[in-house]
Amino acid sequence: MTRPIVATIDLQAFKANYALAKKFAGDALCVAVIKANGYGHGICEVAKALPDSTLAVACVDEAMLLRNEGIDNPVVVLEGAFTGEELAFAAAHKLQLIVHADYQIEQLAQFQHKDAVIDVWLKLNTGMNRLGFSPAISVDVLTKLKALTSVHVVGVMTHFSSADEIDKAVTEQQLALFRSAVHEMGVAADGLLLTAANSAALIEHKATRLDCVRPGVMLYGSSPLDHLSSEAMGLKAVMSLQSRIMAIHEIEAGDCVGYAGTWRASRTTKIGTIAAGYGDGYPRHAETGTPVWIGDRVVPLIGRVSMDMLSVDLSYHPEVNVGDEVELWGKNISVDEVAKSAGTISYELLTGVTARVPRRYV
Ligand code: PLP
Repeated sequence: MTRPIVATIDLQAFKANYALAKKFAGDALCVAVIKANGYGHGICEVAKALPDSTLAVACVDEAMLLRNEGIDNPVVVLEGAFTGEELAFAAAHKLQLIVHADYQIEQLAQFQHKDAVIDVWLKLNTGMNRLGFSPAISVDVLTKLKALTSVHVVGVMTHFSSADEIDKAVTEQQLALFRSAVHEMGVAADGLLLTAANSAALIEHKATRLDCVRPGVMLYGSSPLDHLSSEAMGLKAVMSLQSRIMAIHEIEAGDCVGYAGTWRASRTTKIGTIAAGYGDGYPRHAETGTPVWIGDRVVPLIGRVSMDMLSVDLSYHPEVNVGDEVELWGKNISVDEVAKSAGTISYELLTGVTARVPRRYV
């Protein structure tokens, strides 16, 4: 008997979510963001589900995983390259690199590899203040890049800091700055593709769609917006984190459950112990009351989550037995709800499912 926890990945749901993102995108190219191991779903498996899509990964190492698996979709590397070797790999494997810093331009200038030409996107910092050139120098940077024989500039990009907020002011400001920087480029920007939108912007801010959009989290069935549920948008959960009841106990009023005894029974209580804990990626900070799905209903998490186990109150679900299947998040319990109850976001939960949890693809 093996430990019962498994992450079941529904690739049909992933494809359906991508189709929905494309609908939102209209005429814009829809680049599927599959960094961080496909947001924890398996980078090669999700890539193979979208054979005709452009993909985006964080780094060259992630792109290597795709190429080594024979996946030849166009791939955008969002952090760009760090070294000359990475540039050589990017050229050989037709990766598109984001250029966001001077050192990358210097490396590109030194890169001379037969007739190799590397596709690049120029990244502008419009307010996220993480990566990118200041719009004030964007004309100079574009001129420098265009002068390099080893480089073909594909487009210009930026990234929003606050597209998930109801107040659109920051996003509008960033978009205006981006547009004005591109306008300053004049004819040099002719033919360049423009991209800015993540999932939240794609859903909420039509004007951000431009030539190309970059949805990530929505493809996995999670809503980036507090005020709009994934269900209301028609997104389908892709990952179901499932396990089983490994023990059932009855405790008396006054007895405690779990580390530090933070949960105390006020009556005779039937406790179920589930084989899932923070060692699997279930959030340790999930509060008592976080929903867990068993059979046909929700039961509440109680007490502290341990490394390998967590407890639920089965008092109102007396027919549950050892070995019964539970869903920690997935089709019945939204990952967004669990994340909220743990004071975090779905991105962290999905990417945090640990290596010891087998992924099963359906
Ligand atoms: N574009 C860039 C540059 C990103 O870093 C990310 C993810 O963090 C995305 C797009 C996708 O964002 P989301 O998952 O919120 O759609």
